[in-house]
Amino acid sequence: VPGLGSWPERRARAAAHRPALVGPDRTVTYGELARRVDRLAEGLRARGVAPGDRVAQLGVNAVTVLETFFAVWRLGAVVVPLNHRLAAAEIAYMLGDAGAALLVVGPDAAELAAAAGPSCPMLRTDGEFDEIATAGAPLAAPPAVTPDDPAVLLYTSGTTGRPKAAVLSHGNLTWNTINQLADTDVASTDRALCIAPLFHCVGLGQITLPTLLKGGSVEPLPRFDPGAVLARIGAAGITSFSAVPTMLQMMVEHPGWESAELGTLHTVLYGGSPVQERVARAWLDRGVRLQQGYGMTEASPGVCMVPRGGDPARPVSVGVPHFFTDTAMLRDGARDELPGTPAELLVRGPHVFSGYWGRPEESAAAFVDGDWFRTGDVLRVDEDGWAEVVDRVKDVIISGGENIYPAEVEAVLVRRDEVADAAVVGVPDARWGEVGAAYVQVRDGQAFDEAAVRAHLEAHLARHKIPKYLVAVEALPRNATGKIRRVELRERALPAAA
Ligand code: AMP
Ligand code: MG
Repeated sequence: VPGLGSWPERRARAAAHRPALVGPDRTVTYGELARRVDRLAEGLRARGVAPGDRVAQLGVNAVTVLETFFAVWRLGAVVVPLNHRLAAAEIAYMLGDAGAALLVVGPDAAELAAAAGPSCPMLRTDGEFDEIATAGAPLAAPPAVTPDDPAVLLYTSGTTGRPKAAVLSHGNLTWNTINQLADTDVASTDRALCIAPLFHCVGLGQITLPTLLKGGSVEPLPRFDPGAVLARIGAAGITSFSAVPTMLQMMVEHPGWESAELGTLHTVLYGGSPVQERVARAWLDRGVRLQQGYGMTEASPGVCMVPRGGDPARPVSVGVPHFFTDTAMLRDGARDELPGTPAELLVRGPHVFSGYWGRPEESAAAFVDGDWFRTGDVLRVDEDGWAEVVDRVKDVIISGGENIYPAEVEAVLVRRDEVADAAVVGVPDARWGEVGAAYVQVRDGQAFDEAAVRAHLEAHLARHKIPKYLVAVEALPRNATGKIRRVELRERALPAAA
C-alpha cells in the first residue's frame, strides 16, 4: 500500500485537468493538487517537520485543510486534525499529548490557537501557506512510507476520561477507502460535498478519500447550514455526501426541504449515531436511498453499511459488514458467532487501528482474542446478517437487575409529534440501583403533556423500561458530530419524580 500522500500524483496521471477540490473562490485540479502538495511538503520540511512528526490542524473544513493533510502525508509525517469547537485548554492538552511539531491554523481558528498557547510554531493557511503552495520549491525526494506507518491521530469523542487519539495508519485509511468503494456507488464523475467535519472520521473516511481516489471532486463546507446545503445540492449538481443523522434531520425540518432539488444525489451516507426512523423515511419518500454506515474512529471508520439500494423494509438497519471486514460477538467474555442475542460487536480487518497514541494499556484492553477490536456497542444481527445498533455497552441502564437499552426507549419517545428528540440516561436510585431519566426536546411551539407521554410509553414498553423522570428541555447537549453528551445529562439535578 503506497502512502496516502501519493494519491494526488497518482490520480493526476489520468485526471490532471479534472477538479479535485472545490472551494468558494478556487478549484484545484488533480495536477495542481499534486504540485501544491509537493511544495507544501517541502515547506513543512523547511520548517523542521520530519517524517513521523505530528502536524496538528485546526480550523473549519476548507480546501487548505485537505491540502495540508496530503502534504503532511507526502512528507511521511502524521496529521492531527483538531476540533475547532473545543476549548483552548483542550486544544493545548491535545497538542501536548500528540507532541505536535507544527500547528496549521485556518483564519477562523486563529484566536483559539493563540489562546491554546502552543509550544510549537504555527502556520496560518491565510498567511504564507498559499505562497508556499504556489511558488515554493517541491519536495525533492518524498520518503517511502509503509502501510503500518501512522498517517492520522484522531482524538475520539471520548465520553469519559482524558481524550485519547486513535492512530490510523496509511494502510488503515486505504483499506477503509477500498471498503467504501466496494459498497457504494462513488464514481469518478462525482461532485461530492464534504459536510461532516474533517477532524472526524466520517468527514475524512466516508466520502472524501473514496471520491478523491476515484478522481471525482470534493467541496469542503466550512459549516453546516441545512438551507445552504439543500440549495447547494441543486445548484452544483451534487451527487453525494456523508453526514451525521442530526444534519439529515435538520434538512428534513428546514423550510427549504419541500422545494429542494435532490435529483442528482445518488449516494448519501450517514452514520455516527442512531437516526430517527421518520427522518430516514422522509429521505426515502423524496427518492433518496440513504446508506447508513456504522463504524468508529478506531476502524477508520467503516464497519457495516447498508448495501446499495437500501432496503425500505429496514429503514434503521446499519446493513452488513464491509467487504474486507470481519465481525463477531463477545458473549460471556469469549468470541462467539454473529446471529443470536444482542451482544458487544467485535471487529477485525486491515482498516482497524492498532492502538491509541501513547496508551499501551488502553490499547491492549481494546482488543480480545488477538486482533479483535471491542467496539463497546451492543448490536443485534439477524439471520440475513443485517445488523442493528441496540446501544452502547456503557449506556445500558441496569434497573432492578433488568437491562434497559436507552436507544429503545428514545425510539418510542420520538414517535410522538411534539418530541423532536430524546435522550434517556441512567441515574442512581435507592430502590432499583439505577433508573431511567428521559430528557425530551420539545418541538418549537408545541406543548409537553407529561401524562400523555407517559401513557404513550406505557402502551409501547414494558413497565421497567419506563423512565422514572421525564424532563422537557429546549435542546439536548451534543458534541460536534451530533452525539448526545450523556455524561452531562447524567450530572444534571433532577426534579422530584412524578
Ligand atoms: P466515535 O467514537 O466518535 O468514533 O463514534 C463511534 C461510535 O458511534 C460507535 O462506537 C457507536 O456507538 C456510534 N455509532 C456509529 N455509527 C452509528 C450508527 N449508524 N448508529 C448508531 N450508533 C452509531
Ligand atoms: Mg468511540
